[in-house]
Amino acid sequence: MTQPLALLPPPHLAAIRMLATDIDGTMTVDGRISLDVLQTWHAAAALGLRVLLVTGRSAGEALGLARYLPHASWAIAENGARLLIPDHAPELLVPPRPTEHLLDVAQQIAGDKPLRPTADAFARLGDLAFERDGRTDAEVLALQHAAAREGVNLIWSSVHIHLSAHQPDKGAAVLRIAERWGIAPQAVATIGDSHNDEGLWQPQRFGVTVGTAEIAKLTLRHAPEWQTAAPGGAGWVELLQAWMNVQKN
Ligand SMILES: [Mg+2]
Repeated sequence: MTQPLALLPPPHLAAIRMLATDIDGTMTVDGRISLDVLQTWHAAAALGLRVLLVTGRSAGEALGLARYLPHASWAIAENGARLLIPDHAPELLVPPRPTEHLLDVAQQIAGDKPLRPTADAFARLGDLAFERDGRTDAEVLALQHAAAREGVNLIWSSVHIHLSAHQPDKGAAVLRIAERWGIAPQAVATIGDSHNDEGLWQPQRFGVTVGTAEIAKLTLRHAPEWQTAAPGGAGWVELLQAWMNVQKN
């Protein structure tokens, strides 16, 4: 069961060296990364925390963030499908996408409310993404069941709906990068806010798993162990402050 982050025993945070973090709804406030988040990240980086961005957004957007955000280095995009390292060719972490088949299924399951492709489609190779367009969780869940009948995986975030032939798994991608960085999974903390972050919260995978306050509204297959008191970027700051408090003591 998910408990308040304030109850997390400090020793659990002491060994954390890496944070794998979702971006939208997790680091953002009203859709933007706040100065508060950047300043807190700066302070945590000075104490040795490595941050890996893990987003459902496209490779194009993730690459820009990896290059320009202070202290960012690598980024995982498209819910674990692609790895972006500035000045290196993007790596596809999943099998090639069967685009035509996914388009057919999208059309078939949408019924009288067509799924609208995201504007970032030109920079996306791992999955097909569509605007959520205000669909409720129940509506998206119905789409997920319809997609599953066609053998297609459908997951969603606060902003997008994603179709793929492979099972999207942000957490599996994070495990691969942690290994390349020489960091044990138990030294990795994860944080997210939505259904597409469930791979980050899968039990026994990571040292500390956290959701922002928004997760209280969600029905999850894998819930995080801990939940911040604040939503979005303020919750992200809460986790990093807790980590920094432990490092300083
Ligand atoms: Mg999110």
